[in-house]
Amino acid sequence: MNPIFANLPVTVFEAMSQLARDNNAINLGQGFPDDPGPLDIRQAAADAVLNGYNQYPSMMGLPELRQAIATHYGHWHGLNLDPTTEVMVTSGGTEALTTAILAVVEPGDEVVCFQPVYDSYLPVIRQAGGIPRLVRLKPPHWRLTEEDLRAVFNHKTKAVLFNNPLNPAAVVYPREDLELLAKFCQEFDTIAICDEVWEHVVFEGFKHIPLMSIPGMRDRTIKIGSAGKIFSLTGWKIGFVCAAPKLLRVCAKVHQFLTFTTAPNLQVAVAYGLGKSDEFFKEMQTDLARSRDRLAAGLERIGFPVIQSQGTYFLTVDLSPLGLNETDEAFCKRIVHDYKVAAIPVSAFYEEDPVTTVVRFCFAKKDATLDTALERLSDAVHRR
Ligand code: GLN
Repeated sequence: MNPIFANLPVTVFEAMSQLARDNNAINLGQGFPDDPGPLDIRQAAADAVLNGYNQYPSMMGLPELRQAIATHYGHWHGLNLDPTTEVMVTSGGTEALTTAILAVVEPGDEVVCFQPVYDSYLPVIRQAGGIPRLVRLKPPHWRLTEEDLRAVFNHKTKAVLFNNPLNPAAVVYPREDLELLAKFCQEFDTIAICDEVWEHVVFEGFKHIPLMSIPGMRDRTIKIGSAGKIFSLTGWKIGFVCAAPKLLRVCAKVHQFLTFTTAPNLQVAVAYGLGKSDEFFKEMQTDLARSRDRLAAGLERIGFPVIQSQGTYFLTVDLSPLGLNETDEAFCKRIVHDYKVAAIPVSAFYEEDPVTTVVRFCFAKKDATLDTALERLSDAVHRR
């Protein structure tokens, strides 16, 4: 069997969710909300199942959804996308990423990735024959530096994979970092594949800026979005790929043989959802920020050093000042077993030289769920 896949572990999200089930624990590991998602959007999907078209939709996505994506990004991020040549719908963000990587990377190409790195990137790059060049980001800031980029970019750098807002670190990158990355992409004629699935989950004081909007990046960026994250409907698996026509055309060739198309009824509902008022999106951010603050305050009361979450469903805690004398992985195994709360060790997002002191918690949960988890963890810092 193909060793690239045969030798992979089960993803950390599945592994921790299984441990959560085995231990009957509260699952603050894998990132999915407790909430069932907006009723009107689910209703729109149900109506489309019953009364709409349920055969193969267009390979590129329903025209009405492609138009809604272009309009939405025009309104929210000032992007000017042609829905007929620059927007494609995929079966989720993960498919969109695989599509983009397979469309761009040829054997021998180098691809810059940042650790913590989402677990689907490296195997797919390798399957395409690419050679990952890893930048190691560090807490508490996880910022990009000229020195780090200079060490990995060169004339073989075909692509860079950039996740912003960054899961699991919960960082929303400022313009300065985006301009730095853009400078390297232009110097080395590199295509940026931007995993921006968390673009709407950004908290007060921070702003999501698509790399595509930075001067010089419009035609060398493949931007990836996800309705699952935008609407807290993670099981729907509706992703978006936006890119200049010459890039999107090749992505479409990959997509046609990965999944070909995506459930039409869910596409109808997502098109409806993307047109919702600004208040809807702001309210979602306010609700999530409240949950973030509730979990952060509770963890701080217990004694965990919380690193500020700027976006995503996640916050992280830094174990290093606690003197626990155990890795993030050991800590997560201990708390799921002893305290019945599951979290994700951030070291799982490193292939080499891991940061082993940071743990990720998902706060997209009901108050009662968060409160019970906090109660259970109340002496996790002290008792060993
Ligand atoms: N994106 C989700 C997370 O970071 C996990 C998705 C998955 O389980 N593959 O928790």
